[in-house]
Amino acid sequence: MEIDLLRRLSNAFGPPGAEEEPRGIMREELEDSADEISVDKLGNIFFHKRGEEGYPRIMLAAHMDEVALLVTHIEDSGFLRFQTLGGITSHVMPGQRIIFRGRQRPIKGIIGTKPPHIMTEEERKKLFSIEELFVDIGAGSLKEAEEKGCHIGMMGVFDVEFTELGGGYVRGKAFDDRAGCAAMVKAFKALKGSPYNLVAVGTIQEEVGLRGARTAAWQADPDYALAIEGTFASDVPGSKPHEISAKLGGGPVITIADNSIIAHPKVLRTLIEAAEAEDIPYQFKKVPRGGTDAGAIHLTRAGIPSGVVAIPCRYIHGPASVAHIDDIENTARLVEAFIRRISTK
Ligand SMILES: [Zn+2]
Repeated sequence: MEIDLLRRLSNAFGPPGAEEEPRGIMREELEDSADEISVDKLGNIFFHKRGEEGYPRIMLAAHMDEVALLVTHIEDSGFLRFQTLGGITSHVMPGQRIIFRGRQRPIKGIIGTKPPHIMTEEERKKLFSIEELFVDIGAGSLKEAEEKGCHIGMMGVFDVEFTELGGGYVRGKAFDDRAGCAAMVKAFKALKGSPYNLVAVGTIQEEVGLRGARTAAWQADPDYALAIEGTFASDVPGSKPHEISAKLGGGPVITIADNSIIAHPKVLRTLIEAAEAEDIPYQFKKVPRGGTDAGAIHLTRAGIPSGVVAIPCRYIHGPASVAHIDDIENTARLVEAFIRRISTK
């Protein structure tokens, strides 16, 4: 795996509905491998690879957006109030660094809380709600905040730089789903020159309800679809064995069921057979929670047989995730092997 691609994708700014940066990176990467590239009216990007007639059309989907903050109010004192776009639990938020795109330039800040020194006993024990939090951007008044370029509707993401931790472990923001985007790019490139029919889609607004995938699948009208995701790895101290949904280094995570889909039996079977035949390590998602683009895709038109393969990532939907590069690599290999196997005339 090209670490540099993951680094660029992870560092890219891409809140739901503002996926221009990751979209640009994917376009650059696949310009030479795709037969045609198009962007639809909502912002999904399609990479078409036309193969021989008679082979099924396979849609791959990886979402480009990431969980984010949306500024809803600027206090007279210059602090920003916000809501989240996508699920971020408030217990990971206090003290985190945030970067916004302001009117002129990026605006940096930190999520603040009332100091513990002036909290009551009761307050110290409970979690903060999003409503109690605010972002401090270093502005002394509403006027100063506006002069910096702040405005209602401004979006921000965690301000975290991609880092290699050594031994193949990497840390960065937005691995859900930029790790999936990286694996999709790699698999698509590997299939250049093959006779198969592919449409790989960088989808928008997954984190707020699988929105881009819905319209993308209608347009792509595929015979099969595979969502490539970043899924939660819970192999951390304190998790009981049955709570460990997936673990780092265990290979791609194959979904049997989650809150949005029951994987289509043929897609599921083909994923397992492909992994076994190619000696690709894999694991099953053991805690059937969450949802992915496949949830929207498989209910499109008259129904599209779909499945999910995911990269195990710790701490997704928080400021930074930890993943292992081998898992991303093996996910790309599995996606490629799946396409070769399911593509029969
Ligand atoms: Zn995701």
